[in-house]
Amino acid sequence: MSTTRTLRPEAECATPVTFAMHCTVCGAASRPDPEFEAAHDWATQHLDGNPTHTTYREVIHRHWRAS
Ligand SMILES: [Zn+2]
Repeated sequence: MSTTRTLRPEAECATPVTFAMHCTVCGAASRPDPEFEAAHDWATQHLDGNPTHTTYREVIHRHWRAS
């Protein structure tokens, strides 16, 4: 007999979804922030100081609950 399992985004978690940007050229990264704009601003400022660092990876952390 199998048990049905579910997995869904955690709605009651005290930690919100966070966004961060990683520079794929040098490995530098922004701090995780619940506002995407903070990650976006970090990337544009990083580009200002490092004009050849033109590729980035977005990292999103979202908490899930299984039952
Ligand atoms: Zn960089």
